[in-house]
Amino acid sequence: MKFFIETFGCQMNENDTERIQFLLENSGHEQTVDISESDVVILNTCTVRESAKNRQYGHLGNLKKIKNLKKDLLICIGGCAAQDLKQKIIKDFPYVDIVFGTQNIADLPDLINRRISTGRSICSIEDNGFDPELFKVRRKHNFKALVPITIGCDNYCSYCIVPMVRGNERSIEAEKILRTIEELVFDGAVEVTLLGQNVNSYGKNLKKPYTFSELLEKISDIKGLKRIRFMTSHPKDFSNDLIDVVKNKDNIAKHIHLPLQAGSDKILKEMNRNYTRKDYFGIIENIKNKIPDCAITTDIIVGFPGEEKEDFLKTMDMVKKIRFNRAFTFIYSPRAGTRAAGMEDRITMDEKKQWFRQLLEIQNTISFEENNKLIGRRFEVLVEGNSSKNNTLLEGRMENNTIVNFEGESNLTGKIIPVIVKSARTFYVKGKLARDY
Ligand code: SAM
Ligand code: SF4
Repeated sequence: MKFFIETFGCQMNENDTERIQFLLENSGHEQTVDISESDVVILNTCTVRESAKNRQYGHLGNLKKIKNLKKDLLICIGGCAAQDLKQKIIKDFPYVDIVFGTQNIADLPDLINRRISTGRSICSIEDNGFDPELFKVRRKHNFKALVPITIGCDNYCSYCIVPMVRGNERSIEAEKILRTIEELVFDGAVEVTLLGQNVNSYGKNLKKPYTFSELLEKISDIKGLKRIRFMTSHPKDFSNDLIDVVKNKDNIAKHIHLPLQAGSDKILKEMNRNYTRKDYFGIIENIKNKIPDCAITTDIIVGFPGEEKEDFLKTMDMVKKIRFNRAFTFIYSPRAGTRAAGMEDRITMDEKKQWFRQLLEIQNTISFEENNKLIGRRFEVLVEGNSSKNNTLLEGRMENNTIVNFEGESNLTGKIIPVIVKSARTFYVKGKLARDY
């Protein structure tokens, strides 16, 4: 059968999609990018904010129209929203054939067979624990790969649904990670991105405890691996050792994504983040002192329950002082089942939106100014393909994660090449291939 798959949400979900592709292709199915010719449609969903859920519900509505025209089309819903809403999806959307949880991906080929042979809808949300076949995936590109190093999360930030839909944190054995990356490099990968909800707590629950810095150092010794990225770092577990490893190893990208979430100690405590603004400033100072060129990006939530204007101004103050290269900003979205969903929230949505706009305005100005500082400099860029904005240009990423668009032949895709930055925009820069290339 031909399957069409659409992915919502974070890189963890992208990685799950790569696994689904591998499993279905291995069972004799074929992927299509044209939904109208598909026999199976899979939505790999996200539930971290209500807006993502609403968009996915919109897609489910559209799928009903397609299914009305093509009665035997199978609709499968997986990922975090499926895990969160379980039976409710089949109840509210009776034309959905299969709902499968975040720990039931490996069962999908069997679930499809069962659905066809029994004719009955299936909801498979079982706690299957750790999946040993986690690294068997179908990658879009050979030159870069996502590599999960931890699954789930134990931090229970009071606003966040992730621990409920992804389970407790489990670290993958270091040997297995190292072997996988060696194989990836053998197959042509030059860049790997290590994934975890809190990569800094890697290894705590392994039989033989391991720190993230130790793992990173071992990975960076793999011959032929040109670039290593990792996300997400959590300030509460961030160590000085890690800064030293990033500084000393040439193939570790000089970019740290360190979600701040809020700038007020009162709100950080209510969020259960386990660090203070002073702790966060301390980490930033250490990074900037040791790796002056390191890009720092962050996530910020505006309008958490109990956040007052003076708390918000403390976030603005940190944003102005730290000057993040980029910030991913969100208006707080209550998630049923989290502690924050039961907290009193007096600030109106209009006021939250106003704060959000103020934050965005100041951060966009900073991002633009920081990108302008790159003009005239030469950077090594991994070419990722044609630009999504203008397909006559190539798009690549500098070591510090800045996106650069420039003219060049498509056959440069997958190569690391020198580019000189010529002009800056808020979210990317424009450049030119260095003359000596
Ligand atoms: N594990 C990562 C960490 O701790 O920073 C983040 C994972 S979460 C998928 C990505 C971002 O979504 C978070 O950093 C947070 O800013 C945002 N987020 C999570 N729950 C949210 C909520 N209920 N409302 C608004 N934003 C939320
Ligand atoms: Fe959610 Fe906090 Fe875990 Fe990140 S660390 S996934 S924000 S609970």
